[in-house]
Amino acid sequence: MVINDLKQTCTLCGGSGRLAGIRNMGIPQINPGGQCHRCRGRGFLLTELGEDLVRLLRPFVEEMIAEAMPSEPARREEEPDEEEEQE
Ligand SMILES: [Zn+2]
Repeated sequence: MVINDLKQTCTLCGGSGRLAGIRNMGIPQINPGGQCHRCRGRGFLLTELGEDLVRLLRPFVEEMIAEAMPSEPARREEEPDEEEEQE
């Protein structure tokens, strides 16, 4: 298995991840962000095999990240106590 089995260069942006314009229903339009919408600026797309691999590895990667992070007790997002005044 080689990396090219997992991803392929985005044909829309040619691997640059950038697009100056986009075609919407055949009409060329300016692309505001300049980012390729097909590959989301990555310049490549995952193949089906790549997607499978990502799905397979994701739980392990999340575990690794959780272990690498300094352990902190499960904390809740602090919410301000004050409620909006109602009239
Ligand atoms: Zn692209």
